[in-house]
Amino acid sequence: MFKNKAYISIGSNIPPRRKFIDEATKRLRRDSNIALIKRSSIYETCPNGSNFDIRKRFLNGVVEIETSLGPSDLMSRLLGIERSLGRTDSKRCLDRAIDLDILLYNDDIVSNGDVVIPHPRMHERDFVILPLMEVSPDTVHPVIKKRIRDIYNAREMKVFTSPQAAYNHLFSEKISGKRIGFVPTMGYLHEGHASLLRRARRENDLVVLSIFVNPTQFSAGEDYKRYPRDLKRDARVARKEGVDVIFHPSASDMYKKDNSTRVDVEGLSENLCGRYRPGHFRGVATVVAKLLNVIPADVAYFGQKDAQQAFIIKRMIRDLNMAVKIKILPTVREKDGLAMSSRNRYLSAAERREAPVGYRSLILARKMIEKGEKRSEKVIRSMKDFVHRNSNAKIQYILIVDKDTLKDVKTVKGAVLIAIAFYFGGTRLIDNMIVN
Ligand code: AMP
Repeated sequence: MFKNKAYISIGSNIPPRRKFIDEATKRLRRDSNIALIKRSSIYETCPNGSNFDIRKRFLNGVVEIETSLGPSDLMSRLLGIERSLGRTDSKRCLDRAIDLDILLYNDDIVSNGDVVIPHPRMHERDFVILPLMEVSPDTVHPVIKKRIRDIYNAREMKVFTSPQAAYNHLFSEKISGKRIGFVPTMGYLHEGHASLLRRARRENDLVVLSIFVNPTQFSAGEDYKRYPRDLKRDARVARKEGVDVIFHPSASDMYKKDNSTRVDVEGLSENLCGRYRPGHFRGVATVVAKLLNVIPADVAYFGQKDAQQAFIIKRMIRDLNMAVKIKILPTVREKDGLAMSSRNRYLSAAERREAPVGYRSLILARKMIEKGEKRSEKVIRSMKDFVHRNSNAKIQYILIVDKDTLKDVKTVKGAVLIAIAFYFGGTRLIDNMIVN
């Protein structure tokens, strides 16, 4: 509603403490420049400081607000509420009918005499940290955030388009002893990609991101031309995640006119998406092999979102004796369960609302299997009914396959991969789940 987000701590140690806290919350809510988003539970704590009477225990909580007020105006409103509830001297008197402090205001770092944000002692106070984590578990202290930004900004991020130049740079880094983590993508980065980059950042000295919409994995009539591309935006995400090198070749850099070599991973490529996108995995395996020849990676990171792709790459690495370790990381989802994908941006608002139906059908399948259903056919039928009942999606396939061979199983036993591909109009979405 308002563009600024702030967290306010509320405390009271004079009876009726709860009433003071509720009243202060009410007054915040009544302010037309403030929208109260959330309040934590109320915690009872011992007072800090030697002058306090131990019997005068505090009740404390944290509220999340959105506001149009700047930090100083917000502070004045809080002081106004404190005064209106009978608080007189905020400096010397240690009994507090009500105590309101700004803990955080966006990610701002403010120090202008009357206002200091983040609250300078918030990190020392359990009675602030615990309720704050309750209302906003992902909060990172702005001073730490700034430090992270400084660390990453101090690194120079290189962008290579030429395969030879990228190889020369990375090979010299490698022989100087650096461990290289590699995340291959087609760009238009989202949280799913970011999760791979973050893991790579944690585990390696150098992180390489490739952004390449690979023509050989699209067949005629697919979305190669309209696949979303935005290098500027991707570079911003990459910088934030601490990427050292972006490799962003053109199609003609990667494929010379008379190129004629392809990598086929037989067996694993035949079922699931391979059935419906002939040649797709040949294109994927070929481009990943090529990328790994340019980027001497120690570890390459893939998403479970594209499980079949990840298994095929793993097999290729083994079969071709390639010296890179493959790690497959969990699918990152939107809050409503939809697997993140660059293609989600094609969805209309109505389609977007219905799109989690794929994931929900997978959950239904898992529940059926957990309850003892072993007949794949029965599970698949229920999933199809569920999708049709709850959306206008057109199912391309729902299959239950052995996790290692990717061949259909009639009876569920051991680890199986349940996979779905479905269309909203021209937009094709996929999702999957491994069930043991
Ligand atoms: P793409 O750019 O779609 O080719 O994806 C690049 C890499 O990111 C692949 O290894 C994908 O499996 C992975 N990826 C894509 N979406 C997700 C997601 N929602 N969660 C985790 N990984 C993902």
